[in-house]
Amino acid sequence: MDNQKGKGLSFARRIYLPRSIGLAIGCFSVMAAIYPLNLPTWVWGLLLINGFIWPHLAFQLSCRSIYPYRAERHNMLIDSLFGGFWAASMQFNPLPTVTILSMMIMNNVAVGGPKMLIRGLLAQLAGVLLSWLLFGAAFNPDTTAIQIYACLPMLTLYPFAVGMISYQLATKLAEHKRTLRALSRTDSLTGLLNHGSWKDLLQISFQHCKQTHSTATLVLIDIDHFKHINDTHGHIVGDGVLRELSNELKDNLRVEDLAGRYGGDEFCVILPDRSLAQAQEIMERLSQLFSNYRHCDEPELRASLSIGLAAFRPEYQDASMWLNEADKALYIAKNTGRNKISLGAADTLMDIVLSKP
Ligand code: GH3
Ligand code: MG
Repeated sequence: MDNQKGKGLSFARRIYLPRSIGLAIGCFSVMAAIYPLNLPTWVWGLLLINGFIWPHLAFQLSCRSIYPYRAERHNMLIDSLFGGFWAASMQFNPLPTVTILSMMIMNNVAVGGPKMLIRGLLAQLAGVLLSWLLFGAAFNPDTTAIQIYACLPMLTLYPFAVGMISYQLATKLAEHKRTLRALSRTDSLTGLLNHGSWKDLLQISFQHCKQTHSTATLVLIDIDHFKHINDTHGHIVGDGVLRELSNELKDNLRVEDLAGRYGGDEFCVILPDRSLAQAQEIMERLSQLFSNYRHCDEPELRASLSIGLAAFRPEYQDASMWLNEADKALYIAKNTGRNKISLGAADTLMDIVLSKP
């Protein structure tokens, strides 16, 4: 229910300003049209209430309602009822009638589509019938020059206000879309690229290397005995270790390097324009940094990395062949003692054992 209220309140706030502007300036169009008709004084009072008090009352009603969104839609139907009432009361004087009714139709369609359009038209009809009941049905086909001028503010300022609000909404929507797109590409725990988006970038990097004959090295990183870390120190501490590794990746790689979380405790990196030897050097540094990690509440916690590297080769048919080579290299690192960087069988048969303090 709180969520409903929040949603409805922002809707009521959005409507408040255009309603206040629209009804205030629309009031002058109606005044100019009913002035020659000698209507009772209370009609003028009602017009002033509708133009200057109703917008603020409507906002208060919405704010105090349990369902502000629903209350605001009722308020819009009351707007339409008044619109129909004023159109008939000024004997359907063409310009002010079209001005007022068309602006209300625009509001109703913008807020609730065809359904709200029909409900709004019915409310306008009810307003017309009420006026006919009180003053009788009449039609005045002539709009005087003063009445035309009285409609000009409504015809110009109101669409301007509505246009500005639509523009602000569209900008906000585009911003939300960008945020959502970024979130859908990001791993929520580490803030790195998630599996799917990293794989997309791997395809792009592969095609780029093929077409431009450039180099790049693929890196697969796996935390050693991570299950044991979870089992001994708990999953929260385990999450902290995953975050630590991702922070080190973010801090120690270039902007063009593409680091992602492949899944679980496995990470993946594409290092564009880096040879196998350069990549090895970078990863040795990273591995050293990571092994120095100490958890403040779990001083005995130690963590190390197994890393598999594979440089791009022009003979690879597709990106998965490249990934397979890195996977094989990681497998070698895992199966020859862990805490190692392996360059893979395709590049060299010699694994580099890291010297750790
Ligand atoms: P190895 O040395 O062979 O890599 O063994 P390992 O224990 O690191 O690997 P294994 O695949 O057996 O275990 C990975 C564990 O990672 C199992 C899973 O519960 C844990 N894990 C996966 N995702 C998360 C996560 O987001 N947070 C935490 N804390 N643990 C996770
Ligand atoms: Mg592991």
